[in-house]
Amino acid sequence: VKIVGFGADSVGVSDGTQVWNVSRLLDSAPSWPPGSALRFAASFDRLKAELMTVMCEMPTATLADTQLAAPVRWPSKLIAFPANYASHNVEMHTGNRADINGFFLKAPSSICGPNDDIVLPDLPEASIHHECELAIVIGAGGRAIPRERVREHILGYACLIDVTVRGKQERVMRKSFDTFCPLGPWITTADEIDDPDRLDLSLSVNGEVRQQANTRDLIVGISEMVEMASSVMTLNSGDVIATGTPGGVGPLVVGDQVEISIERVGQMSLAVRAGGTIDNRAFDATTSKAENK
Ligand code: MN
Repeated sequence: VKIVGFGADSVGVSDGTQVWNVSRLLDSAPSWPPGSALRFAASFDRLKAELMTVMCEMPTATLADTQLAAPVRWPSKLIAFPANYASHNVEMHTGNRADINGFFLKAPSSICGPNDDIVLPDLPEASIHHECELAIVIGAGGRAIPRERVREHILGYACLIDVTVRGKQERVMRKSFDTFCPLGPWITTADEIDDPDRLDLSLSVNGEVRQQANTRDLIVGISEMVEMASSVMTLNSGDVIATGTPGGVGPLVVGDQVEISIERVGQMSLAVRAGGTIDNRAFDATTSKAENK
C-alpha cells in the first residue's frame, strides 16, 4: 500500500489509483503541529486489518486528483548519512566514510512534498547541489535495535532529495533551508520492497540523467543504518533516515526541473525557483571564516 499525505494534515492510503482518507482512524483531531502521519506510522501494524476494510469502501479521491503533500511532516528527527557511497566520496575528495563518521541531523522543517518547489536562497557565490537518496521511514520506534530486527521497525521507503549548499559552514546550516528536503511522492510500505539493499535509483535535471546507482553500493546498508542511529537515540515513529547519495551530484539553478526515481518506490519531479527577499548575509559572512573541522 502507498501512504500519502494531503491537505493541512490528512493521511490516506492508495493502491496506486485511488486514495482513501484514513485520518478518521486516528485518535485525535487534526491539530498543529501536523502529526497525523506520525500517529499513523505509530499505529500502522495495529491498523493493517482495518485498512483492508477501508480500501473496500468508496475511495475519497483518485490519486491523480489528489494534491500530494509530504507523506511525513514533523518527524522528530531527519537523520542523514553522508559519505555512504564510494562514488560520491571520490567526487567530493573526502576521506569521510559513513561507517566511520556516522550520521548528522538535518532540520525536519526542510521537508517539502512532491508538488512543492525547491526554493533556492539568494546565495550568488554558492553552489547548491542535488543529492539523490532513498529515505527510510520508521514505523514502530525503538532504541538499540539490532540489525536482525530492523525490518520490524521500518514502515516503508520514499524518494528524498538532500538539497545542499556546498561550503565550509556546518552541515545543518547548509542543508536546512526550507524546501531543501523533498520527500515522497508517498511512502511505499516495506512489505512491497523485497530487498531495499538492491534498488536502482536515479536523478535527472531537465531530462538529463545526473545520478544513477543501486543501493547495493551503500557502504552502510539499510539495517546497519537503523542499528547505528538507534544505538545513539530512540527512533520515533515517522522518523526519516536519508541514506546517502551516490556520485553525480551537481548544481541546481532557478528554472530547473529535477526528477528523482527509485525502483519499486516511486518518482517525483519538482521545479526549482528563486526565493524571496530573505537576507542571507549572515550565511555569506561565515564563508570567509576558517574551515569547520
Ligand atoms: Mn546527503
